[in-house]
Amino acid sequence: MLVYQEIVRINTGEKLPFFIAAASKEKEPDIEIIQIPQEWMDDCLSGMEMNVKKIIALKDGEIDPIRCEMCDWCKRTKVLKNPIYPDTADRRDLMEKGDTVVTEYVGYCLMCGKPYNIEGII
Ligand SMILES: [Zn+2]
Repeated sequence: MLVYQEIVRINTGEKLPFFIAAASKEKEPDIEIIQIPQEWMDDCLSGMEMNVKKIIALKDGEIDPIRCEMCDWCKRTKVLKNPIYPDTADRRDLMEKGDTVVTEYVGYCLMCGKPYNIEGII
């Protein structure tokens, strides 16, 4: 959303309000126009500015992506290194039983946006 607003601002000099025209996928679709508050857009801009340096370094191959091990991209690019335990119900359980301890979420997967904990990465 923010990127579209910024592209318009750069090209026209105007910061226009952002609307989402939505329709449900029900048999009888419901429709709505949703206006995203400018404060939300501004908050996204400050968050995006903080991540741009990391994204450029990632694109330039200077850093490796930090994986969440949950999203489709992480599953597609997963490399098996160790066996898992048969009583492991899900990956979070495995992470808590292994050397990784999730104490606090400090960032988000650059591919899927899910939270990760840099302290928990081995
Ligand atoms: Zn991921």
